Amino acid sequence: MRALVRLAVPVLLAGALTCAALGEPAAAAVAPEGGREMVLGPRPAPGPVAPVAAYRISGRFGDRGRLWRLGHHTGLDFVARYGTPVRAVTGGRVVKLAWNPSWGRMVILEVSPGVTVWYCHLSHVLVKIGDVARGQVLGRIGTSGNITGPHLHLEVRVKDRPTDPATYLWGAAPGTPGAVPRWYPAVPIMTVAALAPLRSR
Ligand SMILES: [Zn+2]
Repeated sequence: MRALVRLAVPVLLAGALTCAALGEPAAAAVAPEGGREMVLGPRPAPGPVAPVAAYRISGRFGDRGRLWRLGHHTGLDFVARYGTPVRAVTGGRVVKLAWNPSWGRMVILEVSPGVTVWYCHLSHVLVKIGDVARGQVLGRIGTSGNITGPHLHLEVRVKDRPTDPATYLWGAAPGTPGAVPRWYPAVPIMTVAALAPLRSR
């Protein structure tokens, strides 16, 4: 009996140690592997930044009304304080600086062949013709042109045809016509889903 007990104790102890030894590395191996897979997944290319740091969307592409010369809105309006820096949502080349009775002081960037982004109603223009980086300050929010209050009218044109900036720049709905590159938001608040609740304001 005593011999049996003596034999059994080391066997039980060895069993417990084996379980612990197997269990620990197994648990440790699962967690980092799962995590690693998520972290090392394909990362989207850096997407557009917001043109102004703090804003409220006051007009969307396709809105209808007499406010607009064509009877409908051809861009996306960001209301912000007068003088707020306006940044390039993507890198590109400044191809035109102009003043227009409707759009006021404006900067036009070519961001890819045949695609331009218009920044309108500025109070100041702080760039010249030439290349600009994503996030670079182009000018300041103003009230120039046909306007009811300080805001940025941001317009995207694909082969000179106005295209929805929210869709084009900040996340194309699958199958949306004209939504050529699928860019990802660099600023989480700029996702289309996040923009949607602002529509009613
Ligand atoms: Zn507008």
